[in-house]
Amino acid sequence: MDTTKYYKNQFDDYSTSVGHNIVRNDTNMIHDEFKSLLSSEINKLIEILMKNERKWINNDDYSVYTGQAGIAYTLFNYGKYYNDSVYINMATTILRKCTTEFKSKSKITFLTGAVGPLALTAVLLQSQQKKEEAEQFILKLKSLSAHVFDKSIPDELLYGRTGYLAALLYINANIVPAPIEADLIKKVVSHIINSGISYASSNNSESALMYSWHDKEYIGAAHGLAGILYLLLQARQYLTQIQIDNYIKPSLDYLKKLRYSSGNFLSSVESSSDRLVQWCHGAPGMSALFCLAYKVFEDSTYLEIAIQCGDIIWERGLLKKGYSICHGVAGNGYAFLHLFQQTKDIKYLYRACKFAEWCFNYGLRQNRSPDRPFSLFEGLAGVIYFMLDLQQPHLAKFPTYDILINV
Ligand SMILES: [Zn+2]
Repeated sequence: MDTTKYYKNQFDDYSTSVGHNIVRNDTNMIHDEFKSLLSSEINKLIEILMKNERKWINNDDYSVYTGQAGIAYTLFNYGKYYNDSVYINMATTILRKCTTEFKSKSKITFLTGAVGPLALTAVLLQSQQKKEEAEQFILKLKSLSAHVFDKSIPDELLYGRTGYLAALLYINANIVPAPIEADLIKKVVSHIINSGISYASSNNSESALMYSWHDKEYIGAAHGLAGILYLLLQARQYLTQIQIDNYIKPSLDYLKKLRYSSGNFLSSVESSSDRLVQWCHGAPGMSALFCLAYKVFEDSTYLEIAIQCGDIIWERGLLKKGYSICHGVAGNGYAFLHLFQQTKDIKYLYRACKFAEWCFNYGLRQNRSPDRPFSLFEGLAGVIYFMLDLQQPHLAKFPTYDILINV
């Protein structure tokens, strides 16, 4: 095991005495003392984000993942949480710009495509009672479905069909009545499932569903089977019982076996080195998946795996790589929020708070600066997003990945 990937976790794990001014076990909430600390850190980081505005507002990346749309999403959540219309208006302006500037029609995912700004703008306008305008953005988003079934489109979350599915589910979860027709969602999920069946059978996979991205059978959240299954499980109302029983459940049971002796997950079927503990590859993305799988199937082995992932993340999750939600400490913190939401065990809320506390020293302990240092998935905006979410831990949702509240 490569111990240079992470800092040794020097924090004491939860006990009533260690956690007394961090969390409250009578109310299962964050202690006011820590909450105000969190609040002042959020304000400090927002100030840094805004001071550097010209560095991110003029680049030509309009995506949610690394571009302006993701930063706008954080500003929107900040404005919503603190009831500050300045930030909500700023977010609306930036997101509108992203929808018009995003030219590529072949990029169809929430995270990396035009679909992301379209979905976020529609929901934001809807929340401002601008329903007719919101409808126009939804129509544009639906019109992109023409590209979703192209042979050249992969199935994974970041660049593929699952990323389009995430946007459809996001729209329906946030606008009442749900504007996306069930038929379109069923068509997308069936295409993803059939593609997985076809790849698995022609490549003699042991899994009922398998996919490849750039000729590799990835396992994790961003490019792999786990991310695909996570979104399919959230779309379960659109799945048939046969799809769930014959393909989703057996694929989950196959995934259970793809672990190193440490309990951490492989990043791809072929990988042999136990190095990555981050949302996009390894235990953190798996913890979310197996929490949800436990909720859906009530199989306690799934919860045991999620809990084991939580212990690995606590031990190896303070990454030298940095603080981001994709492959850094804030993203790893979300795994504890998933475990907290599922188990209600205050220990996980405490652990999430300690990972947030680590992020208070933003930028000081990382061995390289991200390419997009202010972005939602690689940089500062994601850390702020995590801290904002931590203030309401029962409602926290990993951005664009957890679509439903308490999925
Ligand atoms: Zn990543």
